[in-house]
Amino acid sequence: MLDAASSFISENFLTLKKRPNDRTIVKVGHVSIGGEKAVVIAGPCSVESKEQVIETALAVKRSGAAILRGGAYKPRTSPYDFQGLGLEGLKLLKEAGDRAELPIVTEVMSEEDLPIVCDYADMIQIGARNMQNFALLKKIAKIRKPVLLKRGLSATIKEWLLAAEYILQGGNERVVLCERGIRTFDNSLRNTLDLAGVALVKELSHLPVIVDPSHATGKRSLITPTAKAAIAVGADGIIVEVHPQPEKALSDSAQQIDFNEFENMMQSLKKPLRELL
Ligand code: PEP
Ligand code: MN
Repeated sequence: MLDAASSFISENFLTLKKRPNDRTIVKVGHVSIGGEKAVVIAGPCSVESKEQVIETALAVKRSGAAILRGGAYKPRTSPYDFQGLGLEGLKLLKEAGDRAELPIVTEVMSEEDLPIVCDYADMIQIGARNMQNFALLKKIAKIRKPVLLKRGLSATIKEWLLAAEYILQGGNERVVLCERGIRTFDNSLRNTLDLAGVALVKELSHLPVIVDPSHATGKRSLITPTAKAAIAVGADGIIVEVHPQPEKALSDSAQQIDFNEFENMMQSLKKPLRELL
């Protein structure tokens, strides 16, 4: 079943396809990820205030997003940067999700915060920096919530799938993988988006795979083209950072798009690819 490039993983692993058409559909509230339709998850990098997150939730819903994102516990490179609103942020995100009738996804950074995050979130995000936090993965395996597992900053496809394997093997089969760019020699963008890796993982694994053009590029003007490329390559959806005033955002300002840009991105995702001569 596996070709030479992919034979690094035992066929017994739970994340791998047993048959060519094996597909897992992960339900988040009423939303299916991995089915016929591509799913758009959108919202701010960080929950900053009630107005900000509610306004964003209503705007992305209006443009067609199916799930609301927003960070309350933020993994920041510098301890002097905004660390997120914590529990207050979770409450605001939940309120915004309820108002817009959207399920919510948010990151958990530690085992300690897992129970409280589970009380509020419909889907739990494991961030890139925690992809190999094995103690956290083992705890995540025991919860009854869907999980968004981001690819680590410098993780190989094998390491990423093995991280997912921890969760499945421990008893939670509701895992969605997320390619968010990896570190390479090229520093002209924040990261390098591994689109071929997305196609490879779709071939190897039955799990849904989505793409995060925001963290993959770090650059507002590249969100739409990379989102289109993600869908074209077979991703089951995208997760995009949206902010009412991106230039004032407390985190990831350069990569967040405003409501207008989000609406335009959604319109261009609906257009067919360029015709061939
Ligand atoms: C995020 O989604 O805001 C985030 C911190 O993502 P990543 O873990 O991919 O860097
Ligand atoms: Mn971010």
